Amino acid sequence: MKARLEEMLVAARSALSAAGVESELQEGRVRFLGKKGELTAIMKGMGGLSAEERPVVGALANTVKEEIEALFESRLLELREVEIARRLASERIDVSLPGRRLYAGSKHPITLVTEEIVEIFSSLGFGVEEGPEIEKDFYNFEALNMPKDHPARDMQDTFYISDDVVLRTHTSPVQIRTMLKQAPPVRVIAPGTVYRRDSDITHSPMFHQVEGFLVDRNVSFGDLKGILTTFLAQFFGKGIDVRFRPSFFPFTEPSAEVDIQCVICGGKGCRVCKNSGWLEILGSGMIDPEVFKSVDYDAKAYSGFAFGMGLERLAMLKYGVNDLRLFFENDLRFLKQF
Ligand SMILES: [Zn+2]
Repeated sequence: MKARLEEMLVAARSALSAAGVESELQEGRVRFLGKKGELTAIMKGMGGLSAEERPVVGALANTVKEEIEALFESRLLELREVEIARRLASERIDVSLPGRRLYAGSKHPITLVTEEIVEIFSSLGFGVEEGPEIEKDFYNFEALNMPKDHPARDMQDTFYISDDVVLRTHTSPVQIRTMLKQAPPVRVIAPGTVYRRDSDITHSPMFHQVEGFLVDRNVSFGDLKGILTTFLAQFFGKGIDVRFRPSFFPFTEPSAEVDIQCVICGGKGCRVCKNSGWLEILGSGMIDPEVFKSVDYDAKAYSGFAFGMGLERLAMLKYGVNDLRLFFENDLRFLKQF
């Protein structure tokens, strides 16, 4: 029996120290010390021993058992340390790695252009007004010298909500709303969204305009030219050529369209300017006395000018964008460039 106990101890030493994971180690313990384990099996032979041999073998069995227990405990600690080290290694964070960038949003080019225009006109003493996009016929047409049967209404393909209500076709109704609530002098710009039944490479059914107007005593066409020339030089850069061409709008008289020297070819002639060297950029004129009548301004005491321009067109020219629809497609590859 002594020999068997010693053999078992040798086997237990190698088995426990070879255990690579905790479950293997537990299996080893059960194999040697469990109720149906090898030690129990050997001890069943105790009954056949003499009275002298019994305590000697009993003492040896205890020693063997204690050594196996001790082996088990120390190997268990080792394995747990290995496991902790492994987890620390696998969960280690490399603080020297470059971080993941957060995407910062950027402003839409139309917003950028609007803000720049507002800033320039603010420096010229203009305030900002807004008006509703769903507008009464009166503000959109009637008060702007376009009665129901006026042919100029055909110039604007209108979305009608009812006979009397439209999606505003321009920002000019803000002129009327402002003048009705405020006596002159007024000096206002009104950026906003407008709607027309039109859609192609240079037209969208929804687009943006800025309206501007100034009413005071002794305002002349020279003031109009001065303000617009100053604005265009600041917006497109100093030294840009500007020209005023006679035109017609129902709400201004006289009226002028304003062209700038083509920013694409510098005036030499290209596809964008249709080889003319000039680009139409805004409409303007002296406010028609008929408009003053509808807002109860004294046309003998006051005069004023108004102008309107398309923000998409300004943004296209400023940033060199050749398709207006890009502004509305929300393609991040496009928007990230601004
Ligand atoms: Zn050109």
